[in-house]
Amino acid sequence: MNSSMAMASLIMPQKCPSALPSVHHPIRRFSIRAKPICLSMSNVQSDVRKEDVVIIGAGIAGLATAVSLQRMGIQSVVLEQADTLRTGGTSITLFKNGWKVLDAIGVGNQLRSQFLEIQGMVIKTEDGKELRSFTFKDVDESQEVRGVERKILLETLAKQLPQNTISFSSKLKNIESSENDETLLQLENDSQISAKIVIACDGIRSPVAKWMGFSDARYVGHCAFRGLAFYPDGQPLEPKVNYVYGRGVRAAYVPVSPTKVYWFVCFNKPSPGPKITDPSILRQKIMELIKGWSSELLNIINSTPDDTIIRTPLVDRWLWPGITPPVSKGKVVLVGDAWHPMTPNLGQGACCALEDGVVLAQKLAQAMKFGTLTVEDAFKSYGSERWPRIFPLSIRANLVGTLLQLDNPVVCSFRNNVLVPKLVKLGPLLEHTNFDFEPLV
Ligand SMILES: Cc1cc2nc3c(=O)[nH]c(=O)nc-3n(C[C@H](O)[C@H](O)[C@H](O)COP(=O)(O)OP(=O)(O)OC[C@H]3O[C@@H](n4cnc5c(N)ncnc54)[C@H](O)[C@@H]3O)c2cc1C
Repeated sequence: MNSSMAMASLIMPQKCPSALPSVHHPIRRFSIRAKPICLSMSNVQSDVRKEDVVIIGAGIAGLATAVSLQRMGIQSVVLEQADTLRTGGTSITLFKNGWKVLDAIGVGNQLRSQFLEIQGMVIKTEDGKELRSFTFKDVDESQEVRGVERKILLETLAKQLPQNTISFSSKLKNIESSENDETLLQLENDSQISAKIVIACDGIRSPVAKWMGFSDARYVGHCAFRGLAFYPDGQPLEPKVNYVYGRGVRAAYVPVSPTKVYWFVCFNKPSPGPKITDPSILRQKIMELIKGWSSELLNIINSTPDDTIIRTPLVDRWLWPGITPPVSKGKVVLVGDAWHPMTPNLGQGACCALEDGVVLAQKLAQAMKFGTLTVEDAFKSYGSERWPRIFPLSIRANLVGTLLQLDNPVVCSFRNNVLVPKLVKLGPLLEHTNFDFEPLV
């Protein structure tokens, strides 16, 4: 049997040789299918569970990939270090490319019904003077922009998976290739898994990317405060993204749902500094940055519950050809921020993680269902299809952020008086939201 045929057999149900019980973890909501075996490897001390497809990380990339694979008839298990899905966090903006993927994996309409469609954008100065406004559909009839609460997006994706798919409190501690062409995953809770295929969706600090030789994501010199304002009696805004451009500081706010408004304040800082979680300190720092700005933004921040306010240093990593390692090593592959952390200036990190998930699922299905590719070649094909999309987008997002964070008064005056009012065109700015893929069948 050639290796692609061997992989094709992985999707067939396999019988457990003996009636061994499921492994139970101390804290988790779902149990995972377990097939314990004992490997005769010198460095393996205890029973090793055997799995076909293991996804590491139950973020947007991990869950979207698991759902995409499931739609192609391929089951996986998802290991998540936390004891629940990420409940905190604010909102992300998804453009039409993100919605196209959410539709393809069957959750688009569930999410649409909960989140407002954003009609356009308005760019303002710190004192509230309007510099320019655009309507998305005037530029592109097919454009779709909505803010989506991250928590609800994750819960919606997780609900598509069989109950025993996600294993919480399962933090990957170590990864190594094993002699049998599999990958040995050692978890913090001392359990071990031998996986035929590993899909690492473990975010910007991905231990798997590090193991594959990737450098750490690079701090780009800006941090963002974010929050989700709550208006129990209804939020007051029109469905538009509002951008406010200051000198070295910029902000945005956008209604997400009838009661919630997402906002961020982005500012320059030479080094990220220590992590701050105390909400009163966070609020104080935000207010210092936007002192004297229009009252609309201040009111929104004042309507924000403490537990949604966070500060995040912005990072990225450019996938230089010939220098950056390939996206896969054998049967281990990277997806989402684990592969291509990018700054949020184009609102594309999560959209691209969703895109990665469907493209990877299609490639893997060619190996596992149809036997037309080996798994290794499927991963290489995924990498070569995705790289030309991801590499320029990461650079573009970085450059947009650098430009918008400039604090030179002459440059800011040119931006406010010439560039934004007269030169900027929305069409080319959103060109990157055009993305097509084969149907998931
Ligand atoms: C300020 C800001 C604003 C943004 N706004 C937007 C936007 O508007 N639109 C957009 O498209 N994108 C946006 N993004 C980008 C988006 O948030 C990310 O691209 C997206 O969350 C990536 O998802 P992911 O699943 O790859 O990574 P993550 O969301 O980081 O998920 C990784 C998961 O892996 C788990 N994990 C990590 N290590 C381990 C381990 N060792 N073992 C087990 N599990 C592990 C984590 O707990 C986590 O659940 C923004 C980002 C930032 C910082």
